Amino acid sequence: MNYTEQIRSYARQLKLSNLASRPFDFLAEPVPNEVFLVECLKEEINYREEKAKQRRITQACLPTFKSFDAFDLEFQKSITKWQLDQLSALNWIDGIFNLILIGPPGTGKTHLALAVGNKAVEIGYKVFFASMDNLIHILKTQEISRSSAARLKWIKECDLLIIDEMGYLPIDRLDANLFFQLISNLFENTSVVITSNKGFDGWAEIMGDSVLATALLDRLTHKCQVLSLNDESYRLANRKQIF
Ligand code: ADP
Ligand code: MG
Repeated sequence: MNYTEQIRSYARQLKLSNLASRPFDFLAEPVPNEVFLVECLKEEINYREEKAKQRRITQACLPTFKSFDAFDLEFQKSITKWQLDQLSALNWIDGIFNLILIGPPGTGKTHLALAVGNKAVEIGYKVFFASMDNLIHILKTQEISRSSAARLKWIKECDLLIIDEMGYLPIDRLDANLFFQLISNLFENTSVVITSNKGFDGWAEIMGDSVLATALLDRLTHKCQVLSLNDESYRLANRKQIF
């Protein structure tokens, strides 16, 4: 075995998969041994970080890319530049704060939730995005579906759970209980972002149970930012027309 083959063989045994497979042509010129080793280790770390990021991106299930930069504050006047900056700083995730975005359709709730999710994944947080509908499906089928069980396992590992469109469809009592249990389990461990077209007054109706809704709100709002987006619908104002 020559030196390259030996390096690859040892790297494989040590599970340094980048070093085990990549050509050693990343250094333009011969360098001292220490520099070579430093470069190899740095490359291995970069490779691992990139792989971990790709895994986080896949697991997050974010349906589209939206950014804070593309959010037009001239249009949505119910939130200020300062609030948007605080939101996009994302350090509230470390403090395990929750975020509830309330407002009628088209006011940018999902846009902001996605911007939070995309940036969080980018800077290293574990995220999961689901519509309320989809989340209930995952909870209901966890015993019979491997993919639901895997999703739920990921949710419990996550730093941030984003639940979109709470309140569009009512949920029955059993589902409401499952949802409450999940939020209770995540309490003080995971930041939760919820978008809803209904204010808190309407949550009892969504949950089909006012006691459960109160208990849920108690958990969620313990450390929580609530933003009401109530300007005009961006979709309606910017709709494409045929003539
Ligand atoms: P909601 O979830 O409140 O119903 P969305 O976030 O889905 O609304 O917004 C509808 C569409 O309008 C999306 O394509 C979104 O990117 C866009 N949009 C909404 N508000 C803004 C805004 N203030 N600036 C830029 N785009 C916006
Ligand atoms: Mg939406």
